[in-house]
Amino acid sequence: MQQPSPQYHRHRHLTRAEIRRRRTRRAVRRVGVITALLMVLALGVGFVSGRMGLPAASADSPPAGSLASSSAVTTPGASSAANGGSSAPAASEPAASSTPSAESILLGGMTPEEAAEMLADPLMVLVNHHTQMPEDYTFDTKECGSATAINKTLQTEAADAFLAMQAAAAADGVTVWMQSGYRSVSYQTTLYNNKTQQYLDQGYDEATARELAAGIVNPPGYSEHNCGLAADLNSPEFTALEEGFENTAAFAWLTEHAEEYGFILRYPKGEEAEAVTEITYEPWHWRYVGPENAARINASGLYFEQYIETLQKLAAQGA
Ligand SMILES: [Zn+2]
Repeated sequence: MQQPSPQYHRHRHLTRAEIRRRRTRRAVRRVGVITALLMVLALGVGFVSGRMGLPAASADSPPAGSLASSSAVTTPGASSAANGGSSAPAASEPAASSTPSAESILLGGMTPEEAAEMLADPLMVLVNHHTQMPEDYTFDTKECGSATAINKTLQTEAADAFLAMQAAAAADGVTVWMQSGYRSVSYQTTLYNNKTQQYLDQGYDEATARELAAGIVNPPGYSEHNCGLAADLNSPEFTALEEGFENTAAFAWLTEHAEEYGFILRYPKGEEAEAVTEITYEPWHWRYVGPENAARINASGLYFEQYIETLQKLAAQGA
């Protein structure tokens, strides 16, 4: 097993086989969720129609518009049912113009305009190993790391929020340290090139060496730490950046209070979360998005990648 580094942690990416298995299980669960969601919508439409003295739409009277055609989380099953199946009662309900879309419901009744505004918030930037940080993404940083931290800074707003959070935890008798924050792209380049070189030295060709290195160290611009909003937290109880951190008072406190200070747990536990983030559970890695965004994201129950995808689909409905 890998040795944890006190300076920075190495994300363990899922293997392709692991990702496939998780996706399959997720797809099965998703069909259930979509069906439930569409049925709730159908009931709502039926209720409204009933109140207006109109006959409730039924599965046997295909509507003009189909709900699933604008669904955020369209599944092959749902769209084929909507496109012609009369066997799926929920999917063939009419989508009145005043009926909120599935995305809007998932996001707590948000409008397309609000979704576009939230997407434009620099604190909502998505950085993962598929999505590079935009090159024009700039920010100021401020120190907030513990004495042993190597990368001691975060974006100024995030650093201030962390310091306020740390003080609040301390008032509750809990010590939280910021162990690894902002990593510059050039620092990330050094990490990545060193790792690539190790594989080259072992006799791998360039392409293979880079791919193997990317499985351990994110390429420059693809680590959330590059955007200054990711903070690896630990505590005197447990200084390693490892899963055991979840058993600390610091983690329990963060789970309850981090949202108030604008931080969310970025790589949650469980197969479903790991299928979405493609990163194994990291109880120490917290992401600053701001208090309002954190509350909205947590309330949705969506993981960050899903939340961004749903925002994008909702914003497109207003275009
Ligand atoms: Zn991290």
